[in-house]
Amino acid sequence: MPDLHVDIVFSGIWQMTSTVILSGRSCLVVDPGYFPRELADIAARIPKRATVEALFFTHSHWDHVVGHGIFPAVPVYTSSVLARSVAEGGELAVKGMARAREFDSQWYVERPWDYTWPKDLRGLDDGGWFNVGDLDIETFLIPGHAPDCMAIRAENHLLVGDYLSPCEIPFVDDLADYRRTLKRLLTLISPEIDTVTPGHGPVLSAADACRIASEDLRYLDRIARCAEREDSAAALNLDLPRAAEVAGMRDHHTDNCRKAGLVTAETLGG
Ligand SMILES: [Zn+2]
Repeated sequence: MPDLHVDIVFSGIWQMTSTVILSGRSCLVVDPGYFPRELADIAARIPKRATVEALFFTHSHWDHVVGHGIFPAVPVYTSSVLARSVAEGGELAVKGMARAREFDSQWYVERPWDYTWPKDLRGLDDGGWFNVGDLDIETFLIPGHAPDCMAIRAENHLLVGDYLSPCEIPFVDDLADYRRTLKRLLTLISPEIDTVTPGHGPVLSAADACRIASEDLRYLDRIARCAEREDSAAALNLDLPRAAEVAGMRDHHTDNCRKAGLVTAETLGG
């Protein structure tokens, strides 16, 4: 087994995680973010003897992608879904960078590089892999939060992007996909997995990650059952699996109900 060192850095915004994986002199950085000074700190933490050979994006959302400019000319791996969107100028690609630009503008964040996607973006499929030095990294397509979400496994570490966060409820793009992904994650968190790193919040033990996955699945199953009965009122009244006291979380729950086809203008009007 290659000697592995995993360093996780938390952004001042939404406890977003950036992960630095060192294997010998080879280094992989996952979702470098967010503020330029935080990115400079991440770059400074990498030992001088090591080379950043690759970056990885877990998905297209702006906070996870705009930091790549701190590591110019480094190849970036991501899902083939996102790579295709970038190649075609698709909605995921356009939205990701537009929202980053908008956020930075709103908060006067000066970013010393442009809001463009990396030139060397390499798409991977479910069950794919790539190498960083001696290290094999496995890739798993896990849609639901976004269509282009991808998890990776490096030895006994699983990185899942915007799933299983202890800080928030699921943010759903596609309810059926999200429920399938949670079931998949429960199988991926095998006994060999020691740590599960979500895109936001503290690193989890395998047991805690499985507990959150089960809670989220129960929550989304309840929304799906309300959708079958077309019962928006019951869906809106559901208990949140966590973070109910966080500002805006109930609104995210309402959005999740909308993604299930509930709380339409019609139901509100009626
Ligand atoms: Zn996201």
